[in-house]
Amino acid sequence: METVKLNIGGKFYETTMKTLNRYQHTRLGSLTTRSEEYNPEKQCFFFDRNPEIFNWILDYYRTGQLHFPDNVCGASLRQELQFWNIEEEEVSECCWKSYYQYQDEMEVIAKLKENFTSTITADETASNRTVVRMWLFLDRPDSSRAAKMFNHVYLFFVLLSSVTYCLASHPMFRVDKEILLDLDVQLQGRLDEINNKKILLFYNTDEHPAIYIINKTCMCFFTLELFFHFFTCPKKKKFFKELLNALDAVLLVFMWSSLMLELHLEWFLQDDRVFVVYIVMRAFVILRMFRFFRLAKQYSGMKVLLLAIGTSMKELLLLLVSFLIASLVFAGLIFYAEMYDTSDYDSIPISLWWAVVTMTTLGYGDHYPRTPFGYVIGACCAMCGILLLAMPIAIIAANFGDFYSRNKDRERQQKLKLKKKMKKLKLITKAFSRKVADLPKPPDRITDIETIKI
Ligand SMILES: [Zn+2]
Repeated sequence: METVKLNIGGKFYETTMKTLNRYQHTRLGSLTTRSEEYNPEKQCFFFDRNPEIFNWILDYYRTGQLHFPDNVCGASLRQELQFWNIEEEEVSECCWKSYYQYQDEMEVIAKLKENFTSTITADETASNRTVVRMWLFLDRPDSSRAAKMFNHVYLFFVLLSSVTYCLASHPMFRVDKEILLDLDVQLQGRLDEINNKKILLFYNTDEHPAIYIINKTCMCFFTLELFFHFFTCPKKKKFFKELLNALDAVLLVFMWSSLMLELHLEWFLQDDRVFVVYIVMRAFVILRMFRFFRLAKQYSGMKVLLLAIGTSMKELLLLLVSFLIASLVFAGLIFYAEMYDTSDYDSIPISLWWAVVTMTTLGYGDHYPRTPFGYVIGACCAMCGILLLAMPIAIIAANFGDFYSRNKDRERQQKLKLKKKMKKLKLITKAFSRKVADLPKPPDRITDIETIKI
């Protein structure tokens, strides 16, 4: 039997020609003594490749199966396969995970990179430097210590306004109106007809003066902030394309218009629709809590959370669809199972409500089965809900974990790069000052030291 000696990166392997000839289309399969890798003196073939991975490549010729160890990056495996001219499809199914994992990782990294570069960048050539500085101060909490402080102040105002928003609805934090509504007979009649406690609170009481002052201060603060934020923005067209900025603007409109409506309570009595509009606007004002997502600019963990949810849209949709199907099935089943018990489940929509509440393991207890069939279906419904909810959530959590750990690595790399940059900058300034010292007549002052490009 003709044996072949292979020198792979200094490590010797020995096999037979018959083994290598099993796959003739590959690089090893087509070796002859005339190949350029052949060394006639030592009577062996030399390849300058990774000897560790070659172990697994050679096993492919011996056993016909291509396996790889877990701890080797798929990218380097791919390079080796390309070099040895072996097709990717030959990788055994059990090793696909380790082989393809790097592709997933690359996708995650690409997404992180894409999301951590801002859509709007301050134009360096902007004529007015103060405007750019102001923009950075308002938009980039990580640009300076002052900007970071301002962001915290901003969030404090958000928190404050949200707390007053909640408290203002409690009778304890409301005071009787000092000036009673000046209404004509017809409207007064309408007001007297209202017996809803919650609605009457609007007509008969005002916010506590302290809450009123805090609230209005917050509103003015938010308005001014948005105003300056917008007018210092280098690319105004893109400004409202950022979701949080658009939300800010809409909420400010809501806040000011609901304030205006509060000053004209008689409009509510004249037209019920105005009251509905007011209620809707007031309800949405709590969305200002979303401003906390501004923290994402400062703390990448928050952005990673948003990113993970965004990436898991497919899974979320899957959850929604399967949940909908299951709840419809159980709604139909419970409706007919409880046919002979007339005390509950009047229609399938009501049964649907019961199915959703049961599947989410919430169980308000406003509707419940009373017959043996109903019990069985109720039990199945609850079990089904647990299983359905648990599985996609695991995927979303895994996605979050992936993004989170990759982001940590990214930040570490960025720190290293920044260090390198600072070192370079120091060297440049040193060289620059040396040159300045060498000049026969040094300039009086150096003003544009900031403009040195790194
Ligand atoms: Zn395997």
